[in-house]
Amino acid sequence: MTSHAFEVVVVGAGPAGIAAACTVADAGRPVALVDNSPWLGGQIWRGEEANPVQRAARQWLKRAAAARVTIFREASVFTVSLPQRLLVETPAGAVELGWQRLVIATGARERFVPFPGWTLPGVVGPGGLQALVKAGWPIAGKRVVVAGSGPLLLAVADGLKHRGAHIRLIAEQAPSSRVLQFGFALGRHPAKLAQGLRLKARLLGVPYRCGCWPVRASGDEAARQVTLTDGRRTWTETCDYLACAFGLAPNLELPRLLGCRLADGFVQVNEFQETSVKDVFCAGEPTGIAGADAALVAGCIAGFAAIGNPGQARALFGARARWQRFGRALRDAFAMRPELRRLAEAETVVCRCEDVRRGELERHDNWRAAKLHTRCGMGNCQGRVCGDAANFLFGWTNDSVRPPLLPVRVTSLLSPVADVNQNPTPPAGNQP
Ligand SMILES: Cc1cc2nc3c(=O)[nH]c(=O)nc-3n(C[C@H](O)[C@H](O)[C@H](O)COP(=O)(O)OP(=O)(O)OC[C@H]3O[C@@H](n4cnc5c(N)ncnc54)[C@H](O)[C@@H]3O)c2cc1C
Repeated sequence: MTSHAFEVVVVGAGPAGIAAACTVADAGRPVALVDNSPWLGGQIWRGEEANPVQRAARQWLKRAAAARVTIFREASVFTVSLPQRLLVETPAGAVELGWQRLVIATGARERFVPFPGWTLPGVVGPGGLQALVKAGWPIAGKRVVVAGSGPLLLAVADGLKHRGAHIRLIAEQAPSSRVLQFGFALGRHPAKLAQGLRLKARLLGVPYRCGCWPVRASGDEAARQVTLTDGRRTWTETCDYLACAFGLAPNLELPRLLGCRLADGFVQVNEFQETSVKDVFCAGEPTGIAGADAALVAGCIAGFAAIGNPGQARALFGARARWQRFGRALRDAFAMRPELRRLAEAETVVCRCEDVRRGELERHDNWRAAKLHTRCGMGNCQGRVCGDAANFLFGWTNDSVRPPLLPVRVTSLLSPVADVNQNPTPPAGNQP
């Protein structure tokens, strides 16, 4: 197995990881950036590398391309081999990466709440549908109900409408009073306010209902109708797709494997983004859901701190505090309503990989017991979907994380661990 060593390794090439890696590289220090997708940019700048549309994407992706960063694409960090070494599956086989300082920037995933019919074909996460469509999935002429919670619903509806979808309804579970309050809070972030207003203008004519959520999806072979409620009445919309998720949940598998302390469901970091594990930093969504601007600033702070430059890190504390306020406003406005806990019936599947239903889970007191008795969380997603759902439904927390963190080939698991080459030369260009 090939081994490399870097002063800093950054895992995750979304805004936080790109900012951290560029900051380290600009100081002339050896840095690797590892991501399991073929592109840089994470979720928000997916597909923008070749032809960036967003201004921030243009600026940061250009900077990353010019920086002396060694980039590992389609590279999944799946375990830790020894202290300060990661095992990574790449298309060319497993690679071992040694680090002196590690920046974790693994982002977040969509949070799903089970309801009858949520496992039918045609029921997808809004971000997931957006990703499919960006990759060429035909959506023109399709009827889409976008539901769940958070500003991502608007961004996705706008993208789908632009590609010819008929958006029947955007159903936001948060009450209108809180969404309005969030709108006022945006006054402190003029760029976000302008972005929000632009979205609303482009979505003119598309119904956006607050205090409204799906209770059932139905159809023979795929979802064809979705039943919604506003708590007083229920009605049905016909659709080809129901794009539904309730905000984002942080990707905590790697920090947890490394023993990083969590607080309130996120990685706990100090003012320099350092976790409770020495020399392990964390930035972006695993430390709190606050959007791409927050991730960029935190990534820069982590990068400066990782190369021992606290002065420049400190200069960004004010900007980070502003985006943290935005994150708190986001959390308060789009907090999940308790009614959502009652949507799943005894027969509703919660763990779709292992086909475990709510009624089976309710016989147990905690995640561990439920897992041992029902196999929930033991399938392909390793609890990434049902673990978050069980946390919301029952308040259970997953008390262990086991490698491999992501599904990998058996040959990767069997790779012999070779010596780490302590002095690699960054290759010409920025591919390993
Ligand atoms: C599906 C989805 C779609 C979104 N779409 C939008 C949008 O359209 N507009 C918007 O404003 N916001 C969107 N967001 C929110 C946005 O992603 C965040 O606000 C912000 O970009 C977070 O940046 P980040 O750097 O923390 O993480 P991310 O951008 O999520 O980047 C994290 C990266 O880490 C990689 N990674 C994770 N684990 C590993 C591992 N073990 N090994 C290797 N790589 C790993 C991931 O593949 C990902 O590329 C979306 C979020 C999701 C989940």
